[in-house]
Amino acid sequence: MLNSLRTKLTLSMLITSLAAISVMALITPWLLEQRFISEAKDVHFKRFVRAIEEFRQEHGEWGGPQSALLINQYLTTRQPHSASSPGRRPPVPTTSLADNFRFVLADQQGYIFLPFFEFELGQQLSAEQIEQASPLLSGGELVGYALSGGELPLTEQDKSYLMIQSRSMLIGAAAGLAVTLLLSLTMGSQLVKHMRALTRAAIEMSKGNLNQRVQVEGKDEVALLAREFNRMAQELSNTYAELKASNETIKAQAEALQELSLRDELTGLHNRRYFNQQFRMLHHQAIRYQDTLALALGDIDNFKQINDRFSHQIGDAVLKQVAILMQDEIRDADILCRYGGEEFVILMAHTDKHQAEGLVDRVRAKVEAWPWEKLAKDLQVTISFGISDKLDSDLGHSMLVEADNRLYQAKDLGRNRVCV
Ligand code: GH3
Ligand code: MG
Ligand code: MG
Repeated sequence: MLNSLRTKLTLSMLITSLAAISVMALITPWLLEQRFISEAKDVHFKRFVRAIEEFRQEHGEWGGPQSALLINQYLTTRQPHSASSPGRRPPVPTTSLADNFRFVLADQQGYIFLPFFEFELGQQLSAEQIEQASPLLSGGELVGYALSGGELPLTEQDKSYLMIQSRSMLIGAAAGLAVTLLLSLTMGSQLVKHMRALTRAAIEMSKGNLNQRVQVEGKDEVALLAREFNRMAQELSNTYAELKASNETIKAQAEALQELSLRDELTGLHNRRYFNQQFRMLHHQAIRYQDTLALALGDIDNFKQINDRFSHQIGDAVLKQVAILMQDEIRDADILCRYGGEEFVILMAHTDKHQAEGLVDRVRAKVEAWPWEKLAKDLQVTISFGISDKLDSDLGHSMLVEADNRLYQAKDLGRNRVCV
């Protein structure tokens, strides 16, 4: 979850905005307070100067110890001027003397006649202090200097104003954070949407589902990546389809070749190689499951004479026709193969030699009864069989030998017969 791109994006946006908002929330109230106090001092000082000017107009007294007393009296009894205090913030104390913020007055030579703080009555201001002081002018003429000092105490009203400012700032910051969170979540989702689709598609591909496409919008890096991914996925599935097709062709060709290698060209029957495979397997199973298995070896009688008397072509035709007749007569589960020149073999699973004898004799009779004159005038074809169902642990060797012996027996007994 923490590793998801969306979470990382959201977190980074949140941390960035949190840092920005914290800096703002910490610095702004302090700056505000400093500005507030400095502006208040400024306004306060201007009022003081105005009050001094009013005093000078009313009393004409200036510069002596007497005037200091009078000024003090004047300032403490003077009512704040309604016109000079408009309703706008920040509110400024009246010109009455505040405890910690006072003014020092000096005459035009810089001799203090209204002392305060470390300044003493009659002390002359240094050049540096005069530099810092505000000159008092009357009708364009310098009449003295005023210096302000001490801390301007804030009224309860001022303090609550600053407090409200700070609180508003905090609420604003919290709202800003909430908006950031919301925005980063929605924008993060948008940004990550494509990456997620890409990741999902790549995982699907690794599972083997090659047909993957992702939606592409826009032209940013992710969109580029998605386009490239789609192109590669397309190429991959094309290559895969081609490979699959050629693989199937190869497989079909291999199967055809395999089939061909197990077939006899002339009769279309399975050949000796196929017989060997099947015989090994059926023989093994019969022994293992204590089942029966019968094998019949057939050999066309006097085939050499047929070739000699009628031609090799007629001989071939006879072979083909015998194959057809045998194939028609045996059961679906029986296996018929061309064993050699004019020799055939029938494998019969779950069959003993007596059951086999009945079936094989029907085959023999069928060959004998077929109208061979169709192929050549006076042509007669018969076939002899030897049957065995001898199961021995010698890979079928004794079964083959016994069937062969019975076949010889059939030939000896005059041919066109089945010996068991
Ligand atoms: P028997 O009754 O004892 O089996 O006598 P037979 O003449 O059939 O036996 P033999 O083994 O002497 O002769 C088999 C002949 O089969 C010899 C061979 O030329 C012929 N032959 C083998 N394969 C083919 C073939 O594919 N086509 C033809 N036309 N003749 C074949
Ligand atoms: Mg033979
Ligand atoms: Mg023969």
